[in-house]
Amino acid sequence: MNKQDIISIKQLLSTKKKIIIVPHKNPDGDAIGSTLGLYHYLLKGNHQVHVIVPNDYPTFLKWIPGNDSILKHDSQTEVSEQLIDDADIIFTLDFNAFHRTGNMESILVKSSAIKIMIDHHQAPDSYATYMFSDVSMSSTCQMVYHFIDMLDDTSLIDADIATCLYVGIMTDTGSFRFASTTSKTHQIIAQLIEKGANNSEIHNNVYDTNSYERLQLLGCALTNLRVIPESRTAYITYSQEELNKFNYKKGDTEGVVNYALSLEGIVLAAIFIEDKQEGIIKISLRSKGNFSVNEMSRLHFNGGGHNNAAGGKSDLSLKDTVEKFISILPSYNKALNNE
Ligand code: 5GP
Ligand code: MN
Repeated sequence: MNKQDIISIKQLLSTKKKIIIVPHKNPDGDAIGSTLGLYHYLLKGNHQVHVIVPNDYPTFLKWIPGNDSILKHDSQTEVSEQLIDDADIIFTLDFNAFHRTGNMESILVKSSAIKIMIDHHQAPDSYATYMFSDVSMSSTCQMVYHFIDMLDDTSLIDADIATCLYVGIMTDTGSFRFASTTSKTHQIIAQLIEKGANNSEIHNNVYDTNSYERLQLLGCALTNLRVIPESRTAYITYSQEELNKFNYKKGDTEGVVNYALSLEGIVLAAIFIEDKQEGIIKISLRSKGNFSVNEMSRLHFNGGGHNNAAGGKSDLSLKDTVEKFISILPSYNKALNNE
């Protein structure tokens, strides 16, 4: 985003606007934190602001300041689409292409509102009037902080904004441990704590509110864990039957793939989750070092993401998806063993 863009956005936001903020489907901590952080900031500019998410999100995010104001497009379609039709500006956060919003794609394509993208995913589409895209960023929440900073408004950051942005930086960096965590990330986190983000309470709300069944479901994943030593790969599967047995709720499988990556010497980790309702296998890929799961996902699993964290899907059965994954591994053995 260049200086001229910032001047234009400042000018744009200098009068009251109807603003919509949209994250990707199945929003995670960074998606909810960044949209609500930006929401609280824009409210201070006296705008009419709504966060509209494509569908529901995990309970461990439902305490974040502003949570109750969020509209869900799948269950509140009519009011959501009316607001989108009327919008002057649509901020699209934490995704790089309209199809990542699922059923919201067509209404977004149709909209003539000014689009402002804030995102850190690779290969962004060029739909936005103003594009703040940076794949080196730890999180969209960190980018929202930079965005507010570029508008010379960090003095407006209060405890609510700070709390929202803290959540997404924390969840997208694996609690400040992934390679995307820089000294700048820590400096921003320090600022957010000074502005009122209660770090230990936030960690507790997100990570220490498990149900007994969620931990039993994790036990099932660890039982299903398989290792392919020659490819330095480990993977986990969940059948729909297993999810049902442990009363699966949205968000229960979040982070489970990281247990596969935590095995010593493992460079590539995957989780395959059967979703009978959507008729797909949802895939999450994680890697260490330079091995790009973004490329692997784009090439074989109709997805994408970042170098070390990507997602995708498969229309094959769970068994056939795993077999496909195993069959493509030998072509990556050299890269995997060079890490
Ligand atoms: P997760 O595995 O946690 O669902 O996603 C990991 C990363 O990949 C996130 O940044 C997420 O936004 C991205 N991602 C997940 N699924 C997809 C997908 O189907 N397509 C693309 N382009 N990115 C995805
Ligand atoms: Mn993100």
